[in-house]
Amino acid sequence: MCGSTFLLRKGMMSMSDEAYMMLAIAEAKKAELMDEVPIGCILVKDHEVIASAFNERETSQQAIAHAEILAIKKANEVLGTWRLEDCTLYVTLEPCPMCAGAILLSRVARVVFGAYDKKGGCLGSCMNMYETKGFNHYPEVSGGVLEKECGALLTDFFKKKRDSKKAAAQTNTTE
Ligand SMILES: [Zn+2]
Repeated sequence: MCGSTFLLRKGMMSMSDEAYMMLAIAEAKKAELMDEVPIGCILVKDHEVIASAFNERETSQQAIAHAEILAIKKANEVLGTWRLEDCTLYVTLEPCPMCAGAILLSRVARVVFGAYDKKGGCLGSCMNMYETKGFNHYPEVSGGVLEKECGALLTDFFKKKRDSKKAAAQTNTTE
């Protein structure tokens, strides 16, 4: 009985990972509307979304205004504590060193990310911070959830950027 309940819950959780990642993708799309690199993040506690945010680096001109940092700050406010022990963080891109560190320091139980980031990801790509020995907390990690969709957000965004630059350059030469 216990075993089957566990299996059922496990199955439901994996279904939910994708559903929650869709919400993080929706956040990323909000970033894109503001001409920000589309990266979105949500924090979930007891199956409920308690905070959501997207990358605001350009708008705020703050190097640290990454989606994860902003979502963690909101969750801290909502819960009235810096400890996010029972929370799962969903983010569309593999966290950078700063965010991987912030996730660890806020004691997030689990982090789920979409696309891998070869140029900055610290949960497997450039390094795996959570394999470094000595920290007093290690979040559980699941990578590659809706990887294609999350990655496409970024490749489409940068392609559009390049295309509009090209178009602008052409306009300049024909004028
Ligand atoms: Zn980051």
